[in-house]
Amino acid sequence: MYGAVIHAPGDVRYEERPEPTIIEPTDAVIRVVAACVCGSDLWRYRGISPVPNPTPIGHEYCGVVEAVGDAVTTVKHGDFVVGGFNPCDNTCAACRKGATANCLNAAHYEGCQAEKLRVPLADGTLVATPEMPADDLIPSILALSDVMCTGWHAAVSAGVGPGKSVAVVGDGAVGLCAVLAAVRLGAPVVIAMSRHEARQKVATAFGATHIVAERGDEGIAAIQALTDGIGADCVLECVGTEDARLQASGAVRVGGNIGLVGVPHGDLPIEQFFWKNIGTKGGPANCRAYLPHLLELVLARTINPGIVFDLELPLSEIAEAYAAMDERRAIKSLVRPNA
Ligand SMILES: [Zn+2]
Repeated sequence: MYGAVIHAPGDVRYEERPEPTIIEPTDAVIRVVAACVCGSDLWRYRGISPVPNPTPIGHEYCGVVEAVGDAVTTVKHGDFVVGGFNPCDNTCAACRKGATANCLNAAHYEGCQAEKLRVPLADGTLVATPEMPADDLIPSILALSDVMCTGWHAAVSAGVGPGKSVAVVGDGAVGLCAVLAAVRLGAPVVIAMSRHEARQKVATAFGATHIVAERGDEGIAAIQALTDGIGADCVLECVGTEDARLQASGAVRVGGNIGLVGVPHGDLPIEQFFWKNIGTKGGPANCRAYLPHLLELVLARTINPGIVFDLELPLSEIAEAYAAMDERRAIKSLVRPNA
């Protein structure tokens, strides 16, 4: 079978890889229907994180179950399934608290940008749809594999709810999904920080009440002007860079909360957090804990996170899927193995 392999920064290839098989009795093998490129894949693509060896890449997918191990009971051959980027058993003490991102038996994928995929801990990781979904729902289901759960996690971590003002730092797919999450969780004021027209449009479609195009001190002033002069109750930091964290720290009100979901590249301004009584919480998303609810919303067409995909290519053109995101020609690239 074929899949994507990153060889070096800027060098992702479509090449033959070993056929995945059932190794553990808790495994499933799925035929990937759609996969995508993540902003966090770009850390290696851009040479910010190291690529010591050629490595299969990708951690987002949805597809159809082809085979299951003897111990698997919740999914079967032919089921359409989606799983979070962080496989978990969904039964250990951490998972039972909803902390599925930190499952005590956590496992990993061998590159989801591929025709087929071995899913470890299939019972815990995968959620099946009741029937084969309509094709136009595939992007929104795929978005649950990471970006929508991650945006949701930012909002939950920051305590977003009715009556709260929210500012979102980052207009990538996660930031845009965080806007959707904040709206869905009942926030009456949701400010998207973006200076790109295509991304502003998605934020507005997701229900953002305000767009702030300014950055730095001007961006902070614009957010304060919308929040009684003090800053947002909740700021969702969806980038991970030091600049983004300073922006979040400046945009949050005294005593407010920041939800952190951007993979950290740089220090947090702990001094500012202390003197402003700012709370912070966040990390990798508890996908499995959120998946059933979010899948229900997608299947009912209540939310449509799939509109973050503005480029769709055959898997064989994975190199262009990366280049388009790297050059910010695309918000997020979806790839289909059998296109
Ligand atoms: Zn667990």
